[in-house]
Amino acid sequence: MDESNENIVNASESTESGNNESNLPDAKILEYFEEGAIAKKESYVKILLMLYELTKIDEELAEIDDEKGDLPVRIENLKERMAVVEVHLTEDKAKLKTFESEEKALNKENKNLDDKVTKYDESKYKAKNNKEYDEITKQIDAMMETTDKNDARLKELKSYQENLVKGILEMSKSYEELKAELKEDTSHLNSLNKQFEEEENELIEKRKVILEKLEDKHKTLYERINGSLKGEATAIVRKGNCSGCYNSVPPQREIEIRVAEDIFLCQSCGRIMIDEKLIENI
Ligand SMILES: [Zn+2]
Repeated sequence: MDESNENIVNASESTESGNNESNLPDAKILEYFEEGAIAKKESYVKILLMLYELTKIDEELAEIDDEKGDLPVRIENLKERMAVVEVHLTEDKAKLKTFESEEKALNKENKNLDDKVTKYDESKYKAKNNKEYDEITKQIDAMMETTDKNDARLKELKSYQENLVKGILEMSKSYEELKAELKEDTSHLNSLNKQFEEEENELIEKRKVILEKLEDKHKTLYERINGSLKGEATAIVRKGNCSGCYNSVPPQREIEIRVAEDIFLCQSCGRIMIDEKLIENI
């Protein structure tokens, strides 16, 4: 039991105990309670009207977002895709470089082996005996075997390189296309931002002023609903229906919403409910 209720109990006891002097205490208490109720009601009316005002502002902000359409999302998407292509390009260019150095080394080795084979070939005929001749032939064969192996690897490398170059060219092309698309979308968004900048800033400022007047719990509630229903966080109860989802509001709840001594959410769509009479004179 809170203090105010204790007061009323004590007051009625004192009147019941035969003090019929006057009805003043009761009247005073009644007045006190009525004032309290009125104050409470007024404060909720004020809160609801502020939330309604916020909805109007957010509705306009949502309209501006609509004008910008999916440009911000598209821009983010393009940037992400470009980043992915860039990673692949870097990887493939590095691979190509490795293959190129391997190719260079193999060609150099083959050139040396060819030179050596030519020299050995010449010396073969100067061999003093069969043994020496066989020895030279054996070495020439070994060198030629290495050259063959290198040639096979070079062939393999050539095909890898061709594929890589083809891929790099394709990726570079799509990277340039994405870049052009990004440039176009960004400049479009920039011009829209410029066009709406003033209006948007004014709305954001108005929004801030209202939010500062609200208690944290009401602010949080509003922002939560506005997060998923931008510009539609409040709904009007009109002829027993929620203006947000058109579902009917139970009669008892409708009365509570009209009395406006608390905040009620639509049981179907979760919007903050405001009685139509409350906004009649706005
Ligand atoms: Zn609803």
